[in-house]
Amino acid sequence: MITIDDFDTYPDFPIEGILFYDIAPILASPERFREACIQLMPPSGAPVDVVAGVDARGFIFAPVVAQTLDVGMAMVRKKGKMPGVDLLESSAEIEYGARDLAVSAGSVEGRHVLVIDDVLATGGTARAVAEMLERGGAASVRFSFLIEIGELPGREALEGYEITSVVTV
Ligand code: 5GP
Repeated sequence: MITIDDFDTYPDFPIEGILFYDIAPILASPERFREACIQLMPPSGAPVDVVAGVDARGFIFAPVVAQTLDVGMAMVRKKGKMPGVDLLESSAEIEYGARDLAVSAGSVEGRHVLVIDDVLATGGTARAVAEMLERGGAASVRFSFLIEIGELPGREALEGYEITSVVTV
């Protein structure tokens, strides 16, 4: 079972006052990495047509979950990195700054989307991603996170959405 002790923590990173949870120890262990990917899977019966990984650490887990579910993967990338003209864009305030993201509209339109990211903190990123996907006509949006920081208002920010969290701290 994965617990919070499986992560490294760094106080005052990347800025003062933030306690940063580092996922590197999970990736370093094949057993824990595998276990994390299994626990990121949505409950059986949840409709998922595409798994959207959030740049950058969501990209580590989303492809594994997408392959396991036998669906495709969409990249929610930092703005300015995506080619093409059918881009949806979003802007979010996060714990330590602002974040502009983009996704190809064609990859999510009409689809049930499972969004994967490593950490749910304030929920600013996830909420902005959900609204962006809905603007693009996603049929539904649900989330899986490796770590949910319970003392921050991430869950409230995502009220109304289904959330799977591997570890809550
Ligand atoms: P939020 O938007 O919920 O405030 O922050 C979540 C986003 O910031 C996620 O994309 C996540 O990658 C990043 N993040 C925030 N806090 C942490 C942390 O402690 N550790 C890691 N690895 N990422 C974090």
